[in-house]
Amino acid sequence: MAASSTPVVILVGAPGSGKGTQAVLLSRELGLAHVATGDMFREAMASDSDLGRKVKGYLDAGNLVPDELTIDLVQERLMSPSGSQGIVLDGFPRTVPQGQALSQLLDKLGRSAVAVVELAVPEVTLLERIMQRGLAGSGRSDDRAEVAANRLKVFWEQTAPVIAYYRDRGELRSINGLGTVEEVQVRIRGVLREVGIG
Ligand code: AMP
Repeated sequence: MAASSTPVVILVGAPGSGKGTQAVLLSRELGLAHVATGDMFREAMASDSDLGRKVKGYLDAGNLVPDELTIDLVQERLMSPSGSQGIVLDGFPRTVPQGQALSQLLDKLGRSAVAVVELAVPEVTLLERIMQRGLAGSGRSDDRAEVAANRLKVFWEQTAPVIAYYRDRGELRSINGLGTVEEVQVRIRGVLREVGIG
């Protein structure tokens, strides 16, 4: 089937839900490109590019980069030749306008095998995990306690609504994000198989 040869997996969840770890594994297992907006912004900052200078303040404070910049970046990536293979989206969309822009973009690209998977993790666990990551020296300036707390606040205010957007459209598959990395990966693979991915 043509559609399933270019699947799009959208992993959503709070900071600390394990999205990044699961996205890397999934992309490796299924041969999909891992598109992580947070990584793209950090790379831009590391190379001190125009984009990097524009977004640094937002990342350092744990706030979201404006939609326009973020949507342009993802659009460029998905329209590029290497975007024609299947992808795992990690960290995008994070707002309702981003979700709407993504739906339009995927329609334009004719991607029909789209799965939105939520990693559900209780809030106390999220904070614990982010703090541990900070203590373990993740190297991320935004894993410090105050910034981590702000990232969670931003998640509830701006990203929870885009998860609700997918739930309302009947497109959200929520899985339990607690357990070992392998256990969670098995659950993700299970729901993806239900929609013909993997
Ligand atoms: P992450 O690595 O996904 O936790 O992202 C790190 C930071 O990059 C976030 O706290 C935001 O500042 C920024 N960022 C990543 N993805 C997005 C997005 N989709 N929209 C806006 N800002 C983003």
